Amino acid sequence: MRTLDDLIAEGVEGRTVLVRSDLNVPLDAPPDVPPDAKADGHRRITDDGRIRASVPTISELSGAGAQVIVVAHLGRPKGAPDPALSLAPVAARRGALVGAPVRLAELAKGVPDLAAGDVVLLENIRFDPRETSKNADERAGLARELAALTGPDGAFVSDGFGVVHRKQASVYDVARDIPAYAGGLVLAEVEVLRRLTGPGRPYTVVLGGSKVSDKLAVIEALLPKVDALLVGGGMCFTFLAAQGYGVGGSLLEADRIDTCRTLLESGKIVLPTDIVVADDFSADARTRTVPVDAIPDGWKGLDIGPGSVGAFAEVLAGSATVFWNGPMGVFELAPFAEGTRGVAQAIVDATGAGAPGRRAFSVVGGGDSAAAVRALGLPEDGFSHISTGGGASLEYLEGKSLPGLAVLEQ
Ligand code: ADP
Ligand code: MG
Repeated sequence: MRTLDDLIAEGVEGRTVLVRSDLNVPLDAPPDVPPDAKADGHRRITDDGRIRASVPTISELSGAGAQVIVVAHLGRPKGAPDPALSLAPVAARRGALVGAPVRLAELAKGVPDLAAGDVVLLENIRFDPRETSKNADERAGLARELAALTGPDGAFVSDGFGVVHRKQASVYDVARDIPAYAGGLVLAEVEVLRRLTGPGRPYTVVLGGSKVSDKLAVIEALLPKVDALLVGGGMCFTFLAAQGYGVGGSLLEADRIDTCRTLLESGKIVLPTDIVVADDFSADARTRTVPVDAIPDGWKGLDIGPGSVGAFAEVLAGSATVFWNGPMGVFELAPFAEGTRGVAQAIVDATGAGAPGRRAFSVVGGGDSAAAVRALGLPEDGFSHISTGGGASLEYLEGKSLPGLAVLEQ
């Protein structure tokens, strides 16, 4: 795999380099504006971790005299421009972080003339339906347009770790058109994940988040490798249902109950023992903490309870390696944040931040989990590594080939 260092060594002065970054940051709810009003710039970035993580590679290239065109996506526009998903707030935040304004350009309208060291951000590439098309020819068409922006001696740097599991025009296809290199962020992420494939033991994985169906494949792949798998979040209810408990109005994927029951036979899965339930999905709902065998009908489980946090913390305290993906509850709402906070704190304690000689090697993977760490005020350096990629890190750990990495190896 050619790397950013190789490209810098070749020399980038006066060359145009296309960089794929992952700038898919969480935003607060779309503003309540009439559909014809311009909504761009009105949305607030709730966590800028991915923007900050993208800075070093871009700065290194621009510092070395390259003209840098950054391509990224935001959210899931339906293949058409959507002002609420403009990258304008991201450009503004990047500008504030690096102390220089960043221009936003549109592929269809062309990129302005760039001088050495200039950085321009292309508007949300998913406004173009070809980006995510299943049709390889359509994707190739967009990839050619992107490659053409870089001129005769252009280069492509793949630095959006959070998207390397996607076979998309700006991730995969464009890397076949012009010389392609792995960026610093991608390399750093892969190095950490590689360490997790031969982990120090005991190895504990903590999984949460909303959909169990998203995570069954990784659970299957990880079970033979882990010593314990702690399950919280919305996904725990399908497992609890598999054990025969009623889950009230909690998230449930009934068609996955049998699979969960089979996975439980491993004996390695640890489920919550108590749940914070609410009569409504809102911050001012009535709440109660109940044992898992007493979830009332009609109430929703929105967090794991303190007893579960204690049990999970005990397992974590004895772990040498920890991988955590997915919040333990609806941490975005204060009454349901304590489970995530408690488990995250237990991982920080196991990591031994500040102590002489860290103990556990801990990795947080997942956009929402990483955002939760920062939103709940936990120390970022309390973990060995906070990954920018959720799906990508899970697929890597599943042992799948990631198209955006495989194409760099060709
Ligand atoms: P990540 O991005 O870290 O991979 P996911 O996207 O899988 O995590 O899941 C994150 C979401 O899961 C959060 O928005 C959180 O509110 C939600 N969630 C967690 N626990 C529950 C629950 N008990 N019920 C409903 N949603 C939940
Ligand atoms: Mg997520």
